[in-house]
Amino acid sequence: MKITEVRLVPLRVVREVGMLEPAWEPGASLHVAQGGGAVVEIVTDEGLRGIGPAAKGRVLEVAQATLVGQDPRCVEDLFERMRFAMRNQGGMSGVDIALWDLRARIEGVPLFTMCGGGRDRVPAYASMIRLGDPRERAAMARAVRQQGFRAIKLRLHAATMREDLAIVEAVRAAVGQGMTILCDANQAQSQGQWQPGVRWDFARAKATAVELELLGVAWLEEPLPRYAFSDLRRLRDEVAIAIAGGENLRLQDYAPMLAMGPYDIVQPDAMVVDGLTGLRRAFALARNAGARIAPHHGGRGLGTIAHLHACAAAPDVPWVEVLHDPPVGDFSHGFAPFFDAPRLDEDGCLVLPRGPGLGVQVDPGVLGGTA
Ligand SMILES: [Mg+2]
Repeated sequence: MKITEVRLVPLRVVREVGMLEPAWEPGASLHVAQGGGAVVEIVTDEGLRGIGPAAKGRVLEVAQATLVGQDPRCVEDLFERMRFAMRNQGGMSGVDIALWDLRARIEGVPLFTMCGGGRDRVPAYASMIRLGDPRERAAMARAVRQQGFRAIKLRLHAATMREDLAIVEAVRAAVGQGMTILCDANQAQSQGQWQPGVRWDFARAKATAVELELLGVAWLEEPLPRYAFSDLRRLRDEVAIAIAGGENLRLQDYAPMLAMGPYDIVQPDAMVVDGLTGLRRAFALARNAGARIAPHHGGRGLGTIAHLHACAAAPDVPWVEVLHDPPVGDFSHGFAPFFDAPRLDEDGCLVLPRGPGLGVQVDPGVLGGTA
């Protein structure tokens, strides 16, 4: 069996939903639609197809040159060839995910089953997008709990620690102990020093960590800059709450990061570590270093579905992250272009599709966009 084509399939916007201001980038707006964008499709000489999240034109050119004529079953080998051809510049995650989808379709089994997974649903946490205010976020927490979610991740981006804590206190009062609360300060957005919004120093990170622990928050995420590994390690040693992070790190950053022990919980993202191959390798590196794993995912379509499979195949992953800030940021909008998309059950778990590969198909009615 050989790969004959790697192409981008544009999707039509079937419904404009609206705009959201993400807490981690004040002043920006996140456009939400059902459909739009594109998927990567890899085709074989036997007519089988694998799909993954969109990739840029340059990546597709490299993938065409590297993958056409190769056996699609050799995913790890093709990952290495793609990484070399891309000169380690990233951007190939959609191609790698499409290769994994294709390989499981060739075997005729769900991807999580092929990867050794023993569970067909994974607890999901509702990851907030907007900052909101205490009253509004408390109502949101109650609403997502009623939808089934048992965990919520709040954004800490207010001017003062007092205002951040007011949101967490209001949510805790609203949901009691019936929900796990996670908090994200998104202080590692920048590769360098500057990023929009409030910047925390060590003192604010530590003071916030102490207060959140008293509120029973399960982890504090990205309280310090991306590469502040020694300060993060010191913070970990000085506070009781778990410190989480790593969503912005490339695969090659993982070994040096883990050697310094900055995080209790590491959060690789398939879209940053070059796909599911990189994600599985990051999981293994983290386990070897004694860190816990709770992968990050900031996408809303096939990337989330790919993460769900990776989480189902990793019994030590407690949660799959799902961006969900209804109504505009409802997770279902990202799944709308696909048939057989995962559904949320009454226990707050995302249920894996039963079909081969990622288990989802592009709705033919969404084909034909111009992305
Ligand atoms: Mg985060």
